[in-house]
Amino acid sequence: MHTARTIQLVQRPVGVPKASDFRIVDVPLPDPGPGEVLLKMEWLSLDPYMRGRMSDARSYAAPTPLGDPPPSEAVARVLGSNTPGLSPGDQVLIHDFWRDHAVRKVADCRKLDPTTAPFQSWLGILGMPGLTAWAGLKHIGQPKRGETLVVGAATGAVGSVVGQIARLRGLRVVGVAGGAEKCRHATETLGFDACLDRHQPDLAPRMAEACPNGVDVYFELTGGDVLSAVLPLLNPFARIPVCGTIASYNAITPPPGPDRLPFLMRLILTRSLTVRGFIVSEFADDRPAFEAEMSGWLASGQLRHREHISHGLDSMVPAFIGMLEGRNFGKTLVRL
Ligand code: NDP
Repeated sequence: MHTARTIQLVQRPVGVPKASDFRIVDVPLPDPGPGEVLLKMEWLSLDPYMRGRMSDARSYAAPTPLGDPPPSEAVARVLGSNTPGLSPGDQVLIHDFWRDHAVRKVADCRKLDPTTAPFQSWLGILGMPGLTAWAGLKHIGQPKRGETLVVGAATGAVGSVVGQIARLRGLRVVGVAGGAEKCRHATETLGFDACLDRHQPDLAPRMAEACPNGVDVYFELTGGDVLSAVLPLLNPFARIPVCGTIASYNAITPPPGPDRLPFLMRLILTRSLTVRGFIVSEFADDRPAFEAEMSGWLASGQLRHREHISHGLDSMVPAFIGMLEGRNFGKTLVRL
């Protein structure tokens, strides 16, 4: 009999999640049946969307039921297999949950090629966050050489890829990140033209100075102060892929007034803006083209990525809370 150490959501977080919103329990697992495999999770991904699933507010996906583990993409090793498709020792990518073992159908597993990239890259730059950046930029951002792009959370899983692809496409790229060290990383390692520290005062005038030709693509990951600083600078026909608004994920009250919606609607009208939300799953068909281009960039060293790794299932909740508050520096992963 196998068990899975599992983190269950026991109450819906109000504001910033707390350790007491979760509990860790051992849950028995069945033996793998026909067409099933026993998996040991080796890497679990932490992503901001999980905060939304902890709430029962209406969204694009059903909330995690209380008593269940939150979802997580994982890289797992096959321990036992009842199917010729996978053998013990194989590494697979799977949509699973916050737990260390699982019995799953082979059809739910994607076998990973050990020669392409380190396995955990499939949770970051070669995985969901990388596809989000690549597809959101291509289909909605529609970047053109010589334009200016702004992105917040600039050293994170999605933002770091958005900015680097935009640089490769010949845009001026201005990032926003939390702290001097992250900003240095964005300019010196990721090749951004400028990066502004969101913890320093006067973001709006610093943004205006960094974008002398206005802003043509604002890749929205944060909302909040970054959005406010960019809005007045948007050029006619600017595009805004609305991908995330992490500044408000833990909010329990609306931001203080005045109500800026009429100003935003007027800008959308008078500057002919395209504002389009998206969920990465709508671009699932792009995966082969994305993986081909991204693997090429990684192999040639044109794209860089950084991981923020914590160790053990016990570190999962603190790492999740830390990511929502900007204490991660790169793609957030848990190594089991
Ligand atoms: P990151 O790796 O970027 O981690 C989150 C980062 O958000 C933090 O490191 C912090 O960076 C930043 N942040 C936190 N609070 C604030 C704030 N108040 N203002 C500005 N920045 C803040 O996460 P991901 O790259 O995985 O995700 C980035 C965004 O993309 C999220 O909003 C997420 O929901 C969204 N997303 C959407 C998808 C979709 O399908 N639409 C798919 C994947 C992601 P710092 O401290 O450096 O500013």
